[in-house]
Amino acid sequence: MDDCLFCKIIAGEIPSQKVYEDERAFAFDDINPVSPTHVLVIPKKHIARTSDMTDGDEADIGHLFTVANKVAAERGLEHYRLCINNGEGVGQSVFHVHLHVMGGRVMTWPPG
Ligand code: AMP
Ligand code: ZN
Repeated sequence: MDDCLFCKIIAGEIPSQKVYEDERAFAFDDINPVSPTHVLVIPKKHIARTSDMTDGDEADIGHLFTVANKVAAERGLEHYRLCINNGEGVGQSVFHVHLHVMGGRVMTWPPG
């Protein structure tokens, strides 16, 4: 996707603080962290939001969770929150699926 911010980050056209990369996923620090660890894990395949997933996308999206586990382990996090916003109304601002990995502070539930 030519005009997608996160596709440009994957391609290295926009700088990021890379945390992890493999053939299917890319992870980087959120530019505006809301917790001591706030990493975004994204599929290399452009999928705008989870509701756009089609048959065959499960492997790419499911893989984000195992990458999140690696990130959490590297950061020494036993407790952390994983979050995917689907749609503007719940806070999605970048339309390339991203799994927020947030930890390092106490969090309450439910979120606002
Ligand atoms: P969401 O609101 O769920 O769509 O999350 C988008 C996230 O992307 C926000 O937490 C932003 O702080 C983050 N973000 C936006 N631009 C960048 C960027 N250039 N590098 C890293 N994170 C970004
Ligand atoms: Zn994209």
